Amino acid sequence: MPSIGVFALQGDVREHVHTLQRLGVDAFTVRRPDELARCDALVLPGGESTTMYKLARTFDLFEPLVERIRGGMPTFGTCAGMIMLADRIEDGIDGQETLGGLDITVRRNAFGRQVDSFEGDIDVAGLGDPVHAVFIRAPWVEQVGESVEVLATIPAGEAAGRIVAVRQGSLMATSFHPEVGDDDRIHRYFVDLVKQS
Ligand code: GLN
Repeated sequence: MPSIGVFALQGDVREHVHTLQRLGVDAFTVRRPDELARCDALVLPGGESTTMYKLARTFDLFEPLVERIRGGMPTFGTCAGMIMLADRIEDGIDGQETLGGLDITVRRNAFGRQVDSFEGDIDVAGLGDPVHAVFIRAPWVEQVGESVEVLATIPAGEAAGRIVAVRQGSLMATSFHPEVGDDDRIHRYFVDLVKQS
């Protein structure tokens, strides 16, 4: 089983660690470069991307993370983690930078103007039955590059068609929080991707 770290300077870390452990993965928290060095793959959790950015800089994790992601380490970002993985960001604040890797443009707090947080069932490519997705001040993907596969969009309502899950090689990201609840299919999808790479 692969060793998968969860970026743990900020965000909903425990839920990801527990979900990965349930799948039999060697999962642990990453706060320091030596912990990052142990990772075969990484999860960037939900939380607050501006704070994650600042803390990653403060704790000298920013550049090592950029290097590992560029070097091909499989990485899964949820919500704020999706923002961290995006090459381009709309509505970032305070000179906020991202780690990048995914050829997408994300819009922070994109659903905020309509409704802050909501839940719904959405189809995710390759997963069969819909996933019950929880969105909390979530971003959406405004634009994707050629090599990005769209895995899920909002099915109905004002935001219908908005992209909320993507994959590019061994990088993947969701706007929603698959670590909430006990449906572990999205994490399983990522673990399979890690095993293949
Ligand atoms: N709005 C947050 C941000 O911009 C993301 C919210 C979340 O991760 N639940 O980072």
